[in-house]
Amino acid sequence: MVKEARTSKRRPRDQRVPSHLVLRRSRIDSVGCYTKVSIKEGELIVEYTGPRLKVKMAETLYDDDPRTYLFGLDGGKEVIDGVGVAAFINHSCDPNCETDEVNGRIIIRAIRDIGRGEELTYDYNLYDGSPEDEARCLCSSKNCRGSMYSEDELKRRAKAQKQRAEKARKNGNSGGQRRRTATRS
Ligand SMILES: [Zn+2]
Repeated sequence: MVKEARTSKRRPRDQRVPSHLVLRRSRIDSVGCYTKVSIKEGELIVEYTGPRLKVKMAETLYDDDPRTYLFGLDGGKEVIDGVGVAAFINHSCDPNCETDEVNGRIIIRAIRDIGRGEELTYDYNLYDGSPEDEARCLCSSKNCRGSMYSEDELKRRAKAQKQRAEKARKNGNSGGQRRRTATRS
């Protein structure tokens, strides 16, 4: 599954945490990344680091691991397999950060003033997940869309789901199909 901007939380191989950040338990999802200092809107916070892989290669590597997030780079041919502290930043539908690709590097930037001790978040805008994976969101913000997929991806998945159901109905084997509903906002 590809984040419009992000990676795997399971086993970061580079645990160096910059002095202004700290990793600790999060109510959003297991571990999150928090700031120890106040941050002004527009400030750069940390780079999203990790090896760059061709999309095809990444698909082969992580075929069996649906919980892997990879950060999709502009152009769609490469992803970053995040290994640094930025890979711990959780998704929120009402985030305080955004990601920005600058000269091929992914930078996490504050989109509003952030107070000391706040958890950092950005919108993953996931795409390319498996049909079964609803990528449920637990951010609990007022505008939570219920899923970490992007708005466009949710529309695409709903359409694909409808087409699968239609096909199954035509083939007359819908009774045997396990039904899964696409997550909608
Ligand atoms: Zn949410």
